[in-house]
Amino acid sequence: MTVREALTESAGTLKKVGIETSSLDASLLLAQVLGTNRTALASCGADQLSQEILAAFQSLIDRRKNGECTAYILGKKEFRGLEFFVNPSVLVPRPDTETLVEAAIERIRSGERGVGGEPIRVLDLCTGSGAIAVALKHEMPALEVWATDISAEALETAKANAARLLGDNSINFYLGDLFEPFSATSHSPLPAHCSLFTAHCSLLTADRFSLIVCNPPYIPSDDIKTLSVEVQKEPRLALDGGKSGLETIKQVINGAPDYLSQGGMLLMEADPRQMKDIAVLLEKRGFSCLQLYKDMSDFERVIGGVYE
Ligand code: GLN
Repeated sequence: MTVREALTESAGTLKKVGIETSSLDASLLLAQVLGTNRTALASCGADQLSQEILAAFQSLIDRRKNGECTAYILGKKEFRGLEFFVNPSVLVPRPDTETLVEAAIERIRSGERGVGGEPIRVLDLCTGSGAIAVALKHEMPALEVWATDISAEALETAKANAARLLGDNSINFYLGDLFEPFSATSHSPLPAHCSLFTAHCSLLTADRFSLIVCNPPYIPSDDIKTLSVEVQKEPRLALDGGKSGLETIKQVINGAPDYLSQGGMLLMEADPRQMKDIAVLLEKRGFSCLQLYKDMSDFERVIGGVYE
């Protein structure tokens, strides 16, 4: 069987089970098996494939057919032009989340109210694969970036991504729930969490952040079962925003002022339908200059506010 025949057949198989990106997925998976990339595949359509390659390809196609997303099968996903390791302990970085990175960069570059003064310290809560933190540090190397996650497995993935894309010790990672690693009342003593930059730990409660970014879990618990098979294979911890979908967002809004420098900004991703409620919560907690940012599909995907 040739490359072209294998692609046509497997794309057909995936299409039959309702996978819209069937041709793209088939070519990404075959490229993986051949140790090449999708572009190079296009120029060798007439090449014959060995039985071993075909068997390996078939097993990846079977996994995809059974609802595993291509990113988990490949173990990687592109975000802001960088290739991130992913696995089922982290949410697959979405193009929608690039809007959050974009908004953060815009705020920092403009030096507007909200992100003034030097050095610029940024905190990424619920970092997951580390996509937001790593992309920000990659695009703006002068930033001091800190990131937390409640999942030890996710944090290991984020660290691996930072190490590969930026080098060791480029980001300060902490294990813990939201602000808990920085909290003076933390039940776990700080140094236990300080796998990197231990020396900075004592500074944490004194130094505040110019910008806090967060892509929290924001899907209402009851809606999760209505999502695609692919999304349901992602970590529930990264998706489930409690009964209202806003439970984590509320904690972030409540906690953020204690960790923001004066005029610091909080930027969060959420569902476009949640923005009105979030705006009310932000205003109630004393945030002003609220701003919305649209994703590529023209939905309001990111909301920000300044704490004076
Ligand atoms: N945007 C994701 C989705 O719709 C949800 C991500 C999240 O909860 N942070 O699947």
